[in-house]
Amino acid sequence: MFLSNQLNINTPSPEHSLKAAWLEKKALTLTLKRDDLIHPVISGNKWRKLIYALKDAKQNQVQHIISFGGGFSNHLHALGYSCHQLNIKFTAIVRGDYSLNLSPMLNDLLNWQTDVKYVSRITYKKRGDPTYLQQLKEEYPKSLIIPEGGSQLQALKGVAEIITELQQNYDYIVAPVASGGTLAGLIASAAAITPKTQVIGVGVLKGKGYLEELVSSFLPSGVVCNNWQINHDYHFGGYGKTTPELNTFCNDFLSHHNIPVEPVYSGKLCFAVKDLIHNDYFPKSSKILALHTGGLQGAR
Ligand SMILES: *Cc1c(COP(=O)(O)O)cnc(C)c1O
Repeated sequence: MFLSNQLNINTPSPEHSLKAAWLEKKALTLTLKRDDLIHPVISGNKWRKLIYALKDAKQNQVQHIISFGGGFSNHLHALGYSCHQLNIKFTAIVRGDYSLNLSPMLNDLLNWQTDVKYVSRITYKKRGDPTYLQQLKEEYPKSLIIPEGGSQLQALKGVAEIITELQQNYDYIVAPVASGGTLAGLIASAAAITPKTQVIGVGVLKGKGYLEELVSSFLPSGVVCNNWQINHDYHFGGYGKTTPELNTFCNDFLSHHNIPVEPVYSGKLCFAVKDLIHNDYFPKSSKILALHTGGLQGAR
């Protein structure tokens, strides 16, 4: 595919079978789909969510893209880099003023000629508000606005490719959830292709009820998907929050498996999977796939 070549995207991503005593003891198999290896900058699931938006943008000769995120956002990072490579102007609307204290992510954006706009938390809250979006449209008439996290209907098509790439069927697919687009894509695609697979989200923020509604809002209406649920036991206090236990887990995971994970997404995911296995959540001889969504830049 032209766009993937242009950006040096490595798909399909590998399925890596984990070896550990705690797995053998339970007679389970755990495979990690390494979407973190798709690209060194364009973080795994962000590529999946952006590919079709970027393709359309190229096709329709869009010259300017606008999107939203926090000061460490993997989404802004992936999109900023992609726009730079594709010669599309990019405006990043960032929550909070980091101008005197740039994060590594914002530093990269500035190096990629992103137009960074800092807004107050109050303005940022309006990021989904139709009146505010209309104002932005008027300010930047020929631009394409992509929502926070890249989560929009189009994103589901890109995420669905995670399922079509799989080399084998799994009983469970487990993935982190924040803005919901990734889980929704996995649910819809699994329901269509491998309906026996259960999709389990691990909430990385305090979002009982809220995350379920968010994910449901992306699912095709009229189709009842009962192949999924979200676990809320592993947010470690909220989005971006961590504990010494989680940090130790991430370091140990790297040294045992030689696979980097960070405490915001993939660390919480892997911690959750291991703990659920320990607590016999999965029936004997289950085949489990955990999705490594990337995001390692955020840990800098
Ligand atoms: C954004 C992100 C997620 C969350 O995906 P959503 O589609 O927003 O739920 C998970 N992992 C990583 C590494 C991310 O950057």
